[in-house]
Amino acid sequence: MFRNFKTVSRILYGRGGFAQLDQLTEEVRDDRLEGVAFVVDDVFKDIPVADRLPLRERDAVLWVNVDQEPSTETVDALATEIRARRMNPPAAVVGLGGGSVLDIAKAVSVMLTNPGSSADYQGWDLVRNPSVYHIGVPTLSGTGAEVSRTAVLIGPVRKLGINSDHSVFDQILLDPDLTITVPGEQWFYTGMDCYIHCVESLSGTYLNAFSRAYGEKSLELCREVFHGPRGPGSDEKLMIASLHGGMSIAYSQVGVCHALSYGLSYVLGLHHGIGNCVAFNCLEEFYPEGVAEFRDMCGKHGIVLPRGLVENLEESRLDRMTGIALSLDPLWENALGDNWRDRMPESRVRELYRRM
Ligand code: NAD
Ligand code: ZN
Repeated sequence: MFRNFKTVSRILYGRGGFAQLDQLTEEVRDDRLEGVAFVVDDVFKDIPVADRLPLRERDAVLWVNVDQEPSTETVDALATEIRARRMNPPAAVVGLGGGSVLDIAKAVSVMLTNPGSSADYQGWDLVRNPSVYHIGVPTLSGTGAEVSRTAVLIGPVRKLGINSDHSVFDQILLDPDLTITVPGEQWFYTGMDCYIHCVESLSGTYLNAFSRAYGEKSLELCREVFHGPRGPGSDEKLMIASLHGGMSIAYSQVGVCHALSYGLSYVLGLHHGIGNCVAFNCLEEFYPEGVAEFRDMCGKHGIVLPRGLVENLEESRLDRMTGIALSLDPLWENALGDNWRDRMPESRVRELYRRM
């Protein structure tokens, strides 16, 4: 059986396109004059972007801090706050920020029309009711969260996405100008998330012509971006690379690096981008060319990765990390094939972690 996957319905792309957010929200404000809920990364309190939000009476701006990766708790609290403001439900939810805020906005739009806690929907196709119309405005390129059907959340038991057709954005607005304020290291780490999506997708057993086409284009753009200096042209390319990388893994899967990185995030609180970089740097036996090129790009951008993060970690925490990594069957199956369990016993995962 082939998957019939849902994609973003509408895409507005272009430098300066943020000015058209007004028109996009205007189109969905309904007759009852319900407001729009803007979920905005609080980094924009100090960057002149939020003051350009097309606010109307009854709209709400909800600031979110993403120092910690998004959690089910944060999503539930935001949904409760929106309900308390008597936006029943809002005409739209707009997420403005990096992958964290985009995922929060997706999950909040789901929770405004579905009962219970967002933790109840971590998994695959558990969401029953259609979500509130939601618009994603990325301000950091690489995760592909703008096009994916998952909203990755740290829950009470594990880090796992709400994977649902209802979480896919109805509209995204891609304006490369919004990413120019991203600090250099963050730009690199999240950009490498995209590069690693491509390497894992293109070398996986799930690869097909659809994923290959998107993955190859994305990889080509990543190379143009990361083998040269950062500038306005590269911000534009990285935004499109992110979109293509996300499309590539939508119809294939990520691999060893992401499986290990999920464990690092959950136990050490390491963010996705840097966690991937730390893990990928130790995976030359799985991705020899990709890792060599990755190190070259690190050198070009003066990136020095943290080391010794797991070397001396207590056994119980290493157990937890290993358990989380090994629970992600499709990632391993994509990377290593049907008999992946034979090739990746627990002892091997622990040994890989100890190198980080
Ligand atoms: P992020 O959203 O966590 O942001 C990282 C940092 O960059 C934050 O401090 C943020 O405030 C800052 N920032 C964002 N935009 C900025 C701007 N324009 N100027 C200055 N600072 C800015 O980082 P991310 O790497 O984009 O997202 C990571 C999250 O995405 C993780 O939670 C991960 O699980 C998730 N993710 C989701 C998917 C998906 O398909 N849904 C895929 C990969 C990763
Ligand atoms: Zn990723």
